[in-house]
Amino acid sequence: MYSLTQFPLPYDREALAPYMSGTTLDFHHGRHLATYISTLNDLIADTEYAGMPLNEIIVQAANRGAQKIFNNAAQVFNHNFFFHCLRRGEGHIPDEIASAFGGADNFRTEFKKAASGVFGSGWTWLVRDGDEIKIITTANADTPIAHGIRPLLTLDVWEHAYYLDYQNRRADFIDAFLDHLINWDFVLENMAL
Ligand code: MN
Repeated sequence: MYSLTQFPLPYDREALAPYMSGTTLDFHHGRHLATYISTLNDLIADTEYAGMPLNEIIVQAANRGAQKIFNNAAQVFNHNFFFHCLRRGEGHIPDEIASAFGGADNFRTEFKKAASGVFGSGWTWLVRDGDEIKIITTANADTPIAHGIRPLLTLDVWEHAYYLDYQNRRADFIDAFLDHLINWDFVLENMAL
Protein backbone atom coordinates (compact mmCIF):
# COMPACT_ATOMS: atom_id res chain seq x y z
CA MET A 1 0.00 0.00 0.00
CA TYR A 2 1.18 3.50 -0.81
CA SER A 3 2.29 5.53 2.20
CA LEU A 4 4.38 8.55 2.95
CA THR A 5 7.40 7.68 5.05
CA GLN A 6 9.20 9.68 7.70
CA PHE A 7 11.54 12.31 6.30
CA PRO A 8 14.96 11.80 7.90
CA LEU A 9 16.55 14.66 9.80
CA PRO A 10 19.25 16.16 7.56
CA TYR A 11 21.70 16.27 10.51
CA ASP A 12 22.54 14.55 13.79
CA ARG A 13 20.09 14.96 16.70
CA GLU A 14 22.70 16.93 18.69
CA ALA A 15 23.81 19.09 15.75
CA LEU A 16 21.78 22.14 16.83
CA ALA A 17 22.59 22.11 20.56
CA PRO A 18 22.54 24.10 22.73
CA TYR A 19 20.11 26.28 20.77
CA MET A 20 17.83 23.34 19.97
CA SER A 21 18.42 20.20 22.01
CA GLY A 22 18.47 16.61 20.90
CA THR A 23 15.52 16.00 23.19
CA THR A 24 13.48 18.66 21.39
CA LEU A 25 14.35 17.06 18.05
CA ASP A 26 13.47 13.61 19.39
CA PHE A 27 9.98 14.82 20.26
CA HIS A 28 9.46 17.32 17.45
CA HIS A 29 10.81 15.21 14.59
CA GLY A 30 10.49 11.74 16.09
CA ARG A 31 7.04 12.11 17.65
CA HIS A 32 5.12 15.16 16.33
CA LEU A 33 6.13 14.86 12.67
CA ALA A 34 5.89 11.05 12.81
CA THR A 35 2.32 11.36 14.10
CA TYR A 36 1.30 13.78 11.33
CA ILE A 37 2.68 11.30 8.78
CA SER A 38 0.95 8.25 10.24
CA THR A 39 -2.33 10.15 10.66
CA LEU A 40 -2.15 11.38 7.07
CA ASN A 41 -1.46 7.85 5.80
CA ASP A 42 -4.52 6.57 7.69
CA LEU A 43 -6.70 9.41 6.34
CA ILE A 44 -5.73 8.96 2.68
CA ALA A 45 -5.63 5.16 2.57
CA ASP A 46 -7.89 3.91 -0.25
CA THR A 47 -8.89 7.46 -1.25
CA GLU A 48 -8.17 9.47 -4.38
CA TYR A 49 -5.35 11.17 -2.43
CA ALA A 50 -3.36 7.96 -2.11
CA GLY A 51 -0.42 8.13 -4.50
CA MET A 52 -0.52 11.93 -4.94
CA PRO A 53 2.69 13.84 -4.23
CA LEU A 54 2.50 15.65 -0.87
CA ASN A 55 2.22 19.13 -2.44
CA GLU A 56 -0.69 17.93 -4.58
CA ILE A 57 -2.49 16.47 -1.55
CA ILE A 58 -2.20 19.88 0.13
CA VAL A 59 -3.55 21.85 -2.82
CA GLN A 60 -6.36 19.38 -3.55
CA ALA A 61 -7.42 19.11 0.11
CA ALA A 62 -7.47 22.93 0.37
CA ASN A 63 -9.63 23.20 -2.75
CA ARG A 64 -12.05 20.54 -1.51
CA GLY A 65 -12.24 21.73 2.09
CA ALA A 66 -10.90 18.40 3.38
CA GLN A 67 -9.70 19.97 6.60
CA LYS A 68 -8.25 16.95 8.43
CA ILE A 69 -6.29 15.81 5.40
CA PHE A 70 -5.15 19.38 4.74
CA ASN A 71 -4.01 19.91 8.34
CA ASN A 72 -1.94 16.75 8.50
CA ALA A 73 -0.50 17.03 4.98
CA ALA A 74 0.41 20.70 5.48
CA GLN A 75 2.05 19.90 8.81
CA VAL A 76 4.12 17.18 7.13
CA PHE A 77 5.30 19.66 4.49
CA ASN A 78 5.85 22.49 6.97
CA HIS A 79 7.92 20.36 9.34
CA ASN A 80 10.07 18.79 6.64
CA PHE A 81 10.72 22.28 5.26
CA PHE A 82 11.43 23.67 8.75
CA PHE A 83 13.97 20.98 9.66
CA HIS A 84 15.81 21.72 6.40
CA CYS A 85 15.94 25.42 7.33
CA LEU A 86 18.06 24.64 10.41
CA ARG A 87 21.85 24.51 10.69
CA ARG A 88 24.04 25.40 13.64
CA GLY A 89 26.07 28.61 13.54
CA GLU A 90 24.92 30.72 10.62
CA GLY A 91 24.47 34.25 11.87
CA HIS A 92 25.16 36.30 8.74
CA ILE A 93 22.05 37.40 6.85
CA PRO A 94 22.83 37.27 3.10
CA ASP A 95 22.80 40.53 1.15
CA GLU A 96 20.05 39.19 -1.14
CA ILE A 97 17.73 38.99 1.89
CA ALA A 98 18.94 42.08 3.73
CA SER A 99 18.52 44.32 0.67
CA ALA A 100 14.87 43.32 0.33
CA PHE A 101 14.21 44.71 3.82
CA GLY A 102 16.39 47.80 3.82
CA GLY A 103 19.18 46.09 5.76
CA ALA A 104 19.92 43.03 7.89
CA ASP A 105 18.79 44.70 11.11
CA ASN A 106 15.42 45.56 9.59
CA PHE A 107 14.95 42.00 8.37
CA ARG A 108 15.76 40.71 11.83
CA THR A 109 13.40 43.18 13.52
CA GLU A 110 10.53 42.45 11.12
CA PHE A 111 10.92 38.67 11.37
CA LYS A 112 11.04 38.75 15.15
CA LYS A 113 8.00 41.02 15.35
CA ALA A 114 6.02 38.72 13.05
CA ALA A 115 7.05 35.54 14.92
CA SER A 116 6.31 37.12 18.30
CA GLY A 117 2.90 38.23 17.07
CA VAL A 118 1.57 34.80 16.13
CA PHE A 119 -1.19 34.19 18.68
CA GLY A 120 -1.40 30.52 19.60
CA SER A 121 0.03 28.03 17.13
CA GLY A 122 1.43 28.84 13.72
CA TRP A 123 4.37 29.57 11.48
CA THR A 124 6.44 32.56 10.40
CA TRP A 125 7.71 32.58 6.82
CA LEU A 126 10.03 34.40 4.51
CA VAL A 127 8.41 33.97 1.11
CA ARG A 128 8.57 35.07 -2.48
CA ASP A 129 5.14 36.14 -3.68
CA GLY A 130 5.46 37.05 -7.35
CA ASP A 131 8.42 39.43 -7.49
CA GLU A 132 8.14 40.42 -3.85
CA ILE A 133 10.16 38.96 -0.97
CA LYS A 134 8.25 39.38 2.27
CA ILE A 135 7.51 37.99 5.74
CA ILE A 136 4.13 36.42 6.44
CA THR A 137 2.61 34.30 9.19
CA THR A 138 0.17 31.40 8.96
CA ALA A 139 -2.11 29.99 11.67
CA ASN A 140 -2.09 26.38 12.79
CA ALA A 141 -1.22 24.15 9.81
CA ASP A 142 -1.73 26.69 7.04
CA THR A 143 1.08 26.84 4.51
CA PRO A 144 2.14 29.23 1.72
CA ILE A 145 2.10 26.47 -0.89
CA ALA A 146 -1.69 26.25 -0.49
CA HIS A 147 -1.82 29.87 -1.68
CA GLY A 148 0.63 29.70 -4.58
CA ILE A 149 3.35 31.43 -2.56
CA ARG A 150 6.92 30.06 -2.53
CA PRO A 151 8.41 29.51 0.94
CA LEU A 152 12.07 30.45 1.41
CA LEU A 153 12.46 30.07 5.19
CA THR A 154 10.18 29.15 8.07
CA LEU A 155 10.11 29.15 11.84
CA ASP A 156 7.72 26.88 13.73
CA VAL A 157 6.25 28.84 16.64
CA TRP A 158 3.96 26.12 17.96
CA GLU A 159 4.88 25.70 21.63
CA HIS A 160 6.08 22.14 21.00
CA ALA A 161 8.92 23.63 18.89
CA TYR A 162 10.54 25.37 21.86
CA TYR A 163 8.91 24.48 25.18
CA LEU A 164 11.46 21.87 26.32
CA ASP A 165 14.38 24.28 25.72
CA TYR A 166 12.82 27.71 26.33
CA GLN A 167 9.57 27.03 28.23
CA ASN A 168 7.34 30.09 27.64
CA ARG A 169 10.16 32.33 26.34
CA ARG A 170 9.29 32.41 22.66
CA ALA A 171 11.30 35.61 22.14
CA ASP A 172 14.50 33.82 23.24
CA PHE A 173 13.75 30.98 20.83
CA ILE A 174 13.26 33.47 17.98
CA ASP A 175 16.57 35.17 18.83
CA ALA A 176 18.38 31.80 18.88
CA PHE A 177 16.85 30.90 15.53
CA LEU A 178 17.81 34.19 13.89
CA ASP A 179 21.34 34.27 15.31
CA HIS A 180 22.40 30.61 15.39
CA LEU A 181 20.09 28.20 13.58
CA ILE A 182 19.31 29.33 10.02
CA ASN A 183 20.72 27.39 7.07
CA TRP A 184 21.03 30.38 4.73
CA ASP A 185 22.38 28.17 1.93
CA PHE A 186 19.00 26.37 1.93
CA VAL A 187 17.19 29.73 1.83
CA LEU A 188 19.28 30.93 -1.12
CA GLU A 189 18.67 27.63 -2.93
CA ASN A 190 14.93 28.24 -2.55
CA MET A 191 15.35 31.79 -3.87
CA ALA A 192 17.06 30.44 -6.98
CA LEU A 193 14.22 28.02 -7.84
MN1 MN B 1 6.13 21.69 15.00
